[in-house]
Amino acid sequence: MSESTQPTTTEDTPTAYGLCHWHQGYASGIRLINAIEQGSGSGITHFACGPCRELHRLTPFADR
Ligand SMILES: [Zn+2]
Repeated sequence: MSESTQPTTTEDTPTAYGLCHWHQGYASGIRLINAIEQGSGSGITHFACGPCRELHRLTPFADR
Protein backbone atom coordinates (compact mmCIF):
# COMPACT_ATOMS: atom_id res chain seq x y z
CA MET A 1 0.00 0.00 0.00
CA SER A 2 1.85 3.02 -1.19
CA GLU A 3 0.38 6.43 -1.09
CA SER A 4 1.01 8.38 -4.20
CA THR A 5 1.00 11.86 -2.88
CA GLN A 6 2.11 14.22 -5.52
CA PRO A 7 4.27 17.10 -4.42
CA THR A 8 2.49 20.37 -4.71
CA THR A 9 5.03 22.03 -6.86
CA THR A 10 3.81 24.96 -8.80
CA GLU A 11 4.93 24.15 -12.27
CA ASP A 12 3.36 25.84 -15.18
CA THR A 13 0.68 23.21 -15.23
CA PRO A 14 -2.69 24.83 -15.31
CA THR A 15 -5.11 23.09 -13.05
CA ALA A 16 -8.18 23.03 -15.14
CA TYR A 17 -11.42 21.55 -14.00
CA GLY A 18 -13.46 19.67 -16.49
CA LEU A 19 -14.62 16.38 -17.86
CA CYS A 20 -12.11 13.59 -18.05
CA HIS A 21 -12.84 11.52 -21.08
CA TRP A 22 -11.21 8.36 -19.75
CA HIS A 23 -13.16 7.84 -16.57
CA GLN A 24 -16.14 9.83 -17.77
CA GLY A 25 -16.22 12.15 -14.83
CA TYR A 26 -15.25 15.60 -13.75
CA ALA A 27 -11.87 16.14 -12.21
CA SER A 28 -9.45 18.93 -11.53
CA GLY A 29 -6.08 19.19 -13.19
CA ILE A 30 -7.14 17.82 -16.50
CA ARG A 31 -4.83 18.21 -19.42
CA LEU A 32 -5.47 18.21 -23.10
CA ILE A 33 -4.62 14.89 -24.66
CA ASN A 34 -4.44 14.48 -28.37
CA ALA A 35 -4.74 10.73 -28.30
CA ILE A 36 -6.57 10.00 -31.44
CA GLU A 37 -5.01 11.03 -34.67
CA GLN A 38 -7.13 10.78 -37.72
CA GLY A 39 -4.82 10.99 -40.67
CA SER A 40 -4.34 14.49 -41.91
CA GLY A 41 -7.65 15.69 -40.56
CA SER A 42 -8.08 17.41 -37.27
CA GLY A 43 -7.62 14.78 -34.62
CA ILE A 44 -10.04 14.33 -31.82
CA THR A 45 -8.86 15.97 -28.66
CA HIS A 46 -9.75 14.71 -25.25
CA PHE A 47 -9.02 15.76 -21.72
CA ALA A 48 -7.62 13.45 -19.08
CA CYS A 49 -7.09 13.87 -15.37
CA GLY A 50 -3.84 13.04 -13.59
CA PRO A 51 -4.64 9.49 -12.46
CA CYS A 52 -5.95 8.58 -15.87
CA ARG A 53 -2.85 9.98 -17.51
CA GLU A 54 -0.70 7.74 -15.37
CA LEU A 55 -2.96 4.77 -15.79
CA HIS A 56 -3.10 4.99 -19.55
CA ARG A 57 0.32 6.53 -19.99
CA LEU A 58 -1.08 9.55 -21.73
CA THR A 59 1.10 12.40 -22.77
CA PRO A 60 -0.34 15.87 -22.56
CA PHE A 61 -0.43 17.57 -25.89
CA ALA A 62 1.64 20.45 -24.59
CA ASP A 63 4.42 18.15 -23.37
CA ARG A 64 5.18 16.61 -26.71
ZN1 LIG B 1 -9.81 10.54 -15.38
